Amino acid sequence: MMTFDIQRAGQIDRASLFHPFTSVADLMRDGPLIMAEGKGVRLKDIEGRSYLDGMAGLWCVNLGYGREDISGAIAAQSTKLSFFHTFNGLSTDVAIECAHALLKRAPVPMARVFFGASGSDANETQLKLIWYYNNLRGLPKKKKVIARWNSYHGSGVATASLTGLPGMHALFDLPQGPILHISNPHHYRKAPEGVSERQFSRQLAAELEALIAREGAETIAAFFAEPVMGAGGLIPPPEGYFEEIVPILRKHDILLVLDEVVSGFGRLGTYWGSQRFGLEPDLITAAKGVTSGYFPMSVCFVSPKVWDVIEAGSEKAGLFGHGYTYSAHPVAAAAALATLKAIDQEGVVENVAQLGPYFHAAMREAVGDHPLVGEIRGLGFMMGIELVRDRAAKTPFAPELRVGRKLLKDLVGRGLISRALGDTMVFAPPLVATKADLDEIISLFKAGLDAVAQEVS
Ligand code: PMP
Repeated sequence: MMTFDIQRAGQIDRASLFHPFTSVADLMRDGPLIMAEGKGVRLKDIEGRSYLDGMAGLWCVNLGYGREDISGAIAAQSTKLSFFHTFNGLSTDVAIECAHALLKRAPVPMARVFFGASGSDANETQLKLIWYYNNLRGLPKKKKVIARWNSYHGSGVATASLTGLPGMHALFDLPQGPILHISNPHHYRKAPEGVSERQFSRQLAAELEALIAREGAETIAAFFAEPVMGAGGLIPPPEGYFEEIVPILRKHDILLVLDEVVSGFGRLGTYWGSQRFGLEPDLITAAKGVTSGYFPMSVCFVSPKVWDVIEAGSEKAGLFGHGYTYSAHPVAAAAALATLKAIDQEGVVENVAQLGPYFHAAMREAVGDHPLVGEIRGLGFMMGIELVRDRAAKTPFAPELRVGRKLLKDLVGRGLISRALGDTMVFAPPLVATKADLDEIISLFKAGLDAVAQEVS
């Protein structure tokens, strides 16, 4: 495949590839890590070194690399019908089958699915659907959308605005649009001293009530939430959080949009995060795990409540003027069907339900008392380990020390792929990881942590 000298690949990368979410300065200094192959939970770089992928790519390769059931379905569909679209009432057999299979698996009864190619474009669709819905209902003022600080909902102009990460706003002239940000629900970092998780959830609910009162419920359309916040620091909700929040949304006719781009298809030990927290969302966004990362696809699930308004208003509204060339791409649909089948047949969700608690308990056992570990948090196969300078005072390291990045690089040297969100180290292994794989993650992590502790102390 490679038409150039492997020795020069890093050089050519630096000279030609504009990397997403990468410091250009770091890349120029350190060069890229270049992967070439994957099988199961393991990767191999171009020089033949092997790695355990503790991040399932970007929390997407849920079923592991190199599966011939999925790659075979992709190859067969590419040969049979490589492309056709779903504009203007056209369709394909495989898109229909995929829509049907997804609706059957929805956590609550859903009316329709709308397809896209990324989590970002799906959340853009959700935002437009929310506005469309309230226009059809004759509520043109009800348009503001609430999201949490530290949330991640995408990289488009609207979805990066919705995202609660200041680093994605400052130099891009964002946020733009009718977006309101509300507190990040991270108990360890944000709750006042001595306040229990329950009490903190009540405080967050009171903040939401106050925001709605200040803005006027007649101006607020929707609330976006990831069941467990991912890219913004791996933050699970405090106890009782959704129980406190959801009734307020219902009371004020505010839609609940659950961003299940990471949590969908088993990551939390239930098929959906909605089920983990007993939620009945009006809209659900899914992506990543729907094809196990083998082909780009995203899905917006639309509840009967929203769909009925769209259908009833359709004569008057005319054409639904939204969609992407690759909405319901037949090859993506074939990849999704193969993925959904494997999830069912191989007990993938059950594997996470069983091993998730073990993973967390074993990590706590191994490094819970480590002087650098402030908090271990998460659910299922989603884990964050926050590194601190002083455990008792929860003092973070100075950002310029880049302790998270140091550990990340150390772990790469040991053959383990993780991710550093600031100084929070993240693991989200493939959902097919075995107990032995998890044990290997933990022992490599512990060794790396000890080495970095020596270096920084
Ligand atoms: N929502 C969530 C919760 C995500 O984690 C991500 C991506 N990590 C997105 C949306 C955006 O997905 P994409 O990168 O496919 O656009």
